[in-house]
Amino acid sequence: MKIGVLALQGDFREHGIALSKLGVEPRFVRLPKDLDGLNGLILPGGESTTIGKLMVAYDLVEPIRQFAVNRVIWGTCAGAILMAKEVGQEQPLLQVMDTIITRNAFGRQVDSFEIELDVPFLNPSQPSYHLTFIRGPVFSAVFGRAKPLLSLPDGRIVAVRQDNLLATSFHPEMTEDTRFHQYFLEMVESVHEA
Ligand code: GLN
Repeated sequence: MKIGVLALQGDFREHGIALSKLGVEPRFVRLPKDLDGLNGLILPGGESTTIGKLMVAYDLVEPIRQFAVNRVIWGTCAGAILMAKEVGQEQPLLQVMDTIITRNAFGRQVDSFEIELDVPFLNPSQPSYHLTFIRGPVFSAVFGRAKPLLSLPDGRIVAVRQDNLLATSFHPEMTEDTRFHQYFLEMVESVHEA
């Protein structure tokens, strides 16, 4: 299994470290040819406007859209924003998921916070999962083929799955817990085998 991490801006190194802990050495993707032969791709957190503009500059928008047709993509935070259909403002987007996203949805005062949640679809080796939000977005609408995967106790949706596509408004790559990366690798494996 070959996994790529989009490495234009943001916390791609942290995703690389999490993947290495699981025995996968990722390829950092900067140009369209770097996508060749990959089975899965991670779009990291960072600044979605900057990453989007760099994706346009490096001609990556169409190749990543094509990649999304039959391979696995996981966007964390800014990555999730880039995958959305709409974000309520003009910026380059991939628009591969049936989601509408509100950026910086937690406001300035509590723009970064952490919370422990039960995440039933993760490996139950630990009782709960520690979610880290850094100026994170929320999914304000999830429609079509996209399905909410995880919500906060107040009902706000923070993870969405649409077949081979995954988007989270928090940052599993910022924690020691690699179970979300494991979940992503299992998605890649199941698409690869199908
Ligand atoms: N607030 C950033 C954006 O809107 C995302 C933050 C992040 O990825 N941690 O692009």
